[in-house]
Formats: sequence, structure tokens, C-alpha cells
Amino acid sequence: MPDTTDELHQLLSDIQRALIQEKELSGDTLFVDPTPPAQEQEITAMASHKKTPPVESGPDLFGFAPPAAVPSQQLPAYPAEAWVSAASLSDLNAAICDCVKCSLGNTRTKFVFGVGSPNADIVLVGEAPGADEDIQGEPFVGRAGQLLNKILEAVHFKREEVYICNILKCRPPNNREPQADEIDTCEPHLWKQLELIKPKIIVCLGRIAAQTLLRTTDTLTNLRGKIHNYRGIKLVVTYHPAALLRNPNWKKPTWEDVQWIRKMYDEMKSGADPQG
Ligand code: URA
Repeated sequence: MPDTTDELHQLLSDIQRALIQEKELSGDTLFVDPTPPAQEQEITAMASHKKTPPVESGPDLFGFAPPAAVPSQQLPAYPAEAWVSAASLSDLNAAICDCVKCSLGNTRTKFVFGVGSPNADIVLVGEAPGADEDIQGEPFVGRAGQLLNKILEAVHFKREEVYICNILKCRPPNNREPQADEIDTCEPHLWKQLELIKPKIIVCLGRIAAQTLLRTTDTLTNLRGKIHNYRGIKLVVTYHPAALLRNPNWKKPTWEDVQWIRKMYDEMKSGADPQG
């Protein structure tokens, strides 16, 4: 049993999130059938390169994607704030690291900007810092981060050659889900990071990152296995490493996703991808 009210809140929050995730992936059944549903098998087949998925349309901030993708009133604009003109990631970090635009600024230990190569061709986007990240000021350094490192290593990506960040830069108390107003306030910082890095591929880790960037309420199951168009950049979706710690059944499809992503990356690097 948890010893403190804080630990109890944390446990309840973890249980709630696990159940939401379960519902998200498996519908209204509480128990997962170890054989993946037909739809997941189809997506898995896609991720195993049996089909080349089409690029799906999405919002376009940087003006690269076909303009018809999303009605213009849905295109987000930067707030009128000084950091918008930052010329580098370090300038941007310096300009926003004391942010208190939402209440998380008052409860965080450290602002968690992001880590990796400023010239990365691939950016991984998670949800929000957890307890370890909040203490260390670096994304994905806790248990989920250790697993993410192993996943990256397994497809020969070094942590330093990719870029890793989150939708939110500050930890939500008890690791609760980010709230809509927190996302609205913080997401423009991520747009600016992406504008400066100019990646070729964005990998959303989990439902929250994917739904936020793609402006959708579609399920993770539907979003996986497709190449989405995020403002002219390829965006793909896979499971959050924390979800894999809760449900090892999702490790195999994640492995297929990352192999597929690696192949896409290699094709882009070799110039073999006509859309690269
Ligand atoms: N989970 C996330 O989404 N991001 C982190 O940085 C750590 C855990």
C-alpha cells in the first residue's frame, strides 16, 4: 500500500492512465486478448514494409505541405512573444526556461527543454517530463527513458544523433495527463524547436503527442502504421515506452515500427526516398 497521500495520488493516476490507454487500444474490454485485433495485424503488416503507406494530410505551419490539408483557421500561430525570434535552440531554451505561463511553472523542479543534436533528422516527441526528468532537467531519463535508449540502440540510433523532447516542458503533478490549456500554452515552444531543427521525420511516442501534433482525437491504433504529414514533415506514431513497461504485448509491434522508421530514415539519407 502507498505510504503517503502523494503516493496514493500517483498510483491512482497511473491506474487511471493505464485504463485509458487500454480503452484507447482495445475498446471497452478490460482484459487484453494476447492475439492482436485484426486491425492491428493489418497495421503491423504495414509496419513490416509489406505495404508502403500513403502520406496522410495534416496541418502545415512551415508552408511545405499542400495548402488544402487543413482549413486555414485551424493553423496555429505563434504567440506574440520575444522567444519566437530565437535563432538557435540554446537561445530558445534561455528565453523560455523560466516560463510560468501555466501553473506547472510553479510546481516543476527543472524545465525540461529537450536533448540531442540540433541538426537531427529525426525528432522523438513524448508527452511530458516525469519525476526523474523533473529532477534532472532532461527528457526520458527514467525507466521509460532507459527503455527508449534500448529501443534506439536496437536500430542503431545514438541518443546524441536524434533529438528528444516533449509536448510539455514541465512535469504535471503526479504524472497526470497534460491539460488542454497547458498544451495550448506550451506547444508553440515545440513548434519553434521543430522550426529550428528542421527534422525530416518526427516520431510521436504515444497517443498524447500524436493527437496533439496531428490535431486529432483518432486512436493510437488508427494513427500507427501511417506516414502523416505534419507541416511538410513526415510524422509517424508508435507506443510510448511507459506503455510498453505496463504492457509488454506492445513491444513486438513497437519493434516493427522502429525497424520501419529506421528503413525510412536510411532511404531518406541515401536519397532513395523520392519524398525525402
Ligand atoms: N514520459 C514522457 O513522455 N516524457 C519524458 O520525458 C519522460 C517520460
